[in-house]
This record gives sequence, structure tokens and C-alpha cells, in this order.
Amino acid sequence: MKILISNDDGYQAPGILALYDALKDVAEVEVIAPEHNNSAKSNALTLNAPLYVHRSSNGFRYVNGTPADCMHIALTGLLGYRPDLVVSGINNGANMGDDTIYSGTVGAAMEGYLFGVPAIAFSQVERNWAHLDAAARKARELVLQMAQQNLIGSSAWLLNVNIPSLPYEQLGHVKLCRLGRRHVAEPVITQQSPRGETMYWIGAAGPIKDDAEGTDFHATTQGHISITPLKVDLTDHDHLGYWAQTAAKLSAA
Ligand code: MN
Repeated sequence: MKILISNDDGYQAPGILALYDALKDVAEVEVIAPEHNNSAKSNALTLNAPLYVHRSSNGFRYVNGTPADCMHIALTGLLGYRPDLVVSGINNGANMGDDTIYSGTVGAAMEGYLFGVPAIAFSQVERNWAHLDAAARKARELVLQMAQQNLIGSSAWLLNVNIPSLPYEQLGHVKLCRLGRRHVAEPVITQQSPRGETMYWIGAAGPIKDDAEGTDFHATTQGHISITPLKVDLTDHDHLGYWAQTAAKLSAA
């Protein structure tokens, strides 16, 4: 089994080091990750500048680009082979509900999925690396179990996994979930720069709106590990009928 690892927190982040250590004797593992923090870069690709790949003393390769850049160049020429699995993370903080739209952790995994490789995005719920060893151990178990069930190397799928920041013994079982929802984001924060200009800082993600039973928010609050299968089709299938009528009126007018 060949596993390609990336993340969005950068190649030196504790989460990717823990993930590599957890998987390195399970498979042939390569790390190709952003040089710097790229949280909230989603699936962004860098088209206006060249990308450079360097190798760190620990063997990890790092790129002056986004998580999706890393996976894109890896899978379109850099690697020279096709990995059986893409694993992204372990992210420093939750990627649940609407977070998945913005997440660079999910973006790296999604890039693998778009190229036909099964992919998993791993995130820890809290943003302080507490009990990272437990999350890495669970990630390893999950990958091993999926390999045993012959789910790896077959058709492509995309899983989003969130692990509560708890000691290993306190982690609940794995729960299949749908994404919850957040309220809209907090207001932008403005400050005065030393040169007298107004600076704008993107505000925090919104508070939780839908954490009903069955959601990722609900499961992780109960101490469970949430797994949500994701797809890329953004079509509003539920309202295609409504829009068909509306579109007919538009073209008649
Ligand atoms: Mn991140």
C-alpha cells in the first residue's frame, strides 16, 4: 500500500508529524505538504506563480503553495506513481459542517479524490494539539481496518473524519454522520495599521446552528469520532424541479 500524506497546517505541524509516525510502518508513505500554514485555502490552486518543491531533513517534501497544489502536482507528475490512498491532516481544529467548504485539510483530500484516489481528511476537534497521540492512533486503526476490508485502492471515495480531543481510552466509537451547519461567520474585525490604514481581519467561524442527532457536531460532542462521506457535486438536486419552472419562465420572457 502506498499512502500520500498532506495537510494545511504546514509540513512542520505536529499533526502531520504524528500522522506520518502513525502510518509509516503500515505502508510506503510520502509526505508532500505546504511550506506554511494554508488553513481555509479549500481547493485553491496557484496559477500565477511557479511552485517549488524542497525536501526537509526528515524526508518530507514541502511546497510554496496550497494543500491542493501539493496533491495536484504530486498526482500529475511529481510522484511518478499512483498512491492507493491520500490522507490529509491531522488538522489543528475541527472541520465540521460548513468548515468543510473552506478547509484546506479537506481540500487536499478532495484533490486526491478528484484524481480518482480514495482520500481521508483527519481533524482534531480542539485547536491545541491535546491528545494528538490518541488521534494519530485512531487514524492508524481506521486506515488499517479499511485496508483489511479492501476499501483502499479500489474506487475513489472521500471521507471527512473529526476526532474529539480526548485521551485514547475516552474516545467513543466511530459514528457515520451528516454534516451539521453553522450560523454565518462572526463580523470582520477592523484595526488601524501603524501607517494609518484600516486593516480587515476575517472574523471567526459562526456558532453551531444544526447539531441535531446524526450530525458531526453531535457525535463529537458525545465523544465519538465522526465520519462523513463527502461528494463534490454542488447541484441543488432537491430544487431542480423548482428551478426548471423558473428557468422556463425566464426563457419565455
Ligand atoms: Mn489547518
